[in-house]
Amino acid sequence: MRHLLEDAEQRFREACEHADLSDDAIQRLRIPEASLKVSIPVRMDDGSLRTFAGYRVRYDSTRGPAKGGIRFHPKVSADEVTALAFWMTFKTALMDLPFGGGKGGVAVDPKQLSVAELERVSRGYIAAIADVIGPDLDVPATDVATNELVMGWMVHEYGKIHRRHEPAVITGKPLPLGGIPGRWTATADGSFLVIRELADRVLGDTDAPSAAIQGFGNAGAQLATLLAEDGWRVVAVSDSSAAVHDADGLDVAAVRAHKDDTGSLAGCPVGEELDRDEVLGLEVDALIPSALEGAIHEANAGDVRAAVLFEVANGPVTAAADRILDDAGVQIVPDILVNAGGVTVSWFEWIQNRQGDRWTRDTVRDRLEERIVAETRAVARLADERDLPLRTAAYVHALERLTDAMDATGNEALFGDGG
Ligand code: GLU
Repeated sequence: MRHLLEDAEQRFREACEHADLSDDAIQRLRIPEASLKVSIPVRMDDGSLRTFAGYRVRYDSTRGPAKGGIRFHPKVSADEVTALAFWMTFKTALMDLPFGGGKGGVAVDPKQLSVAELERVSRGYIAAIADVIGPDLDVPATDVATNELVMGWMVHEYGKIHRRHEPAVITGKPLPLGGIPGRWTATADGSFLVIRELADRVLGDTDAPSAAIQGFGNAGAQLATLLAEDGWRVVAVSDSSAAVHDADGLDVAAVRAHKDDTGSLAGCPVGEELDRDEVLGLEVDALIPSALEGAIHEANAGDVRAAVLFEVANGPVTAAADRILDDAGVQIVPDILVNAGGVTVSWFEWIQNRQGDRWTRDTVRDRLEERIVAETRAVARLADERDLPLRTAAYVHALERLTDAMDATGNEALFGDGG
């Protein structure tokens, strides 16, 4: 996963060339504020003891408490979590949320564990990182393979350790524990709003545009439904086990029913089965990687035949693949914009908890739309004004906000005569 951090650094350097930044700010963003690696000993159902490695990185908190999810995946590493925390720093700045960036994870394959074992891993992880998180310090949430249930165990464990009710320490919680309506659909809702806002710009006047979605988890599956309802043809979807295809557009509800029943796309009776990797090479209007980072890399970027790529996953395109796609004229709408709906609704949940309030689904929907549309337009405007690709424009927009905050904390070079 080392390449992920290198990619993040490279994109940062590229953005720095186009933004008006102080050297102090650039220097401060080079290294994370704090990184913790922990060991989580867990008693397994068969009586044996296993230890899992866990991580939490607080990359930057100049604009507010760090914010970012926790993922459960066998390949979680310090480098991966650091790169993802770095991206969260840009994502929260891009959306103008009063947060910095953080990320955490446990190197575990949740599919190999019983529910009771998973609960012990989740509680053990929170016990191990309890000193470095908090509503004003670092606020975790869901990410790959973690969900409301996991957040519920975690917030409960945190409350037990600190002997007080502290719902604002974690977002993505179940509703009865202070969760907010619409958090579970927020990533897909936000992606859909960005796609709708930029469709004319990146696709022109296309009737019933076609989409191929790689990754059929929370975000990918819900986005497939939203696109199909909006008149798109979702011609292919894939997960880690299989892919299905129908040039006229899949019956998304039927595909989702199969996935919900069996846990995977394997054996799905809808459409025709396709090799998983073929999804990336389909001739479609939009390719939508929604799984893990690095899905499109130097070796397969040349296969992409889509007009535009919407990054729902975090970091699905490597920096080397970016250049190949750019040369081929494939436009990319970047992750920190496309998937920012999740963290934006997390912000609403945090506000709700701190105020002891309850928000309605309609309030969440309206405020999400307002924020996503405003920042999407700001990125598009900046791309036009400075003649930049959308990815660089998004980074520059975020970076300028970040460095304004850093400079405001005391940059000697800006010290004037007062007045
Ligand atoms: N895991 C999501 C992301 O990558 C959400 C993070 C959050 O809500 O804090 O943006």
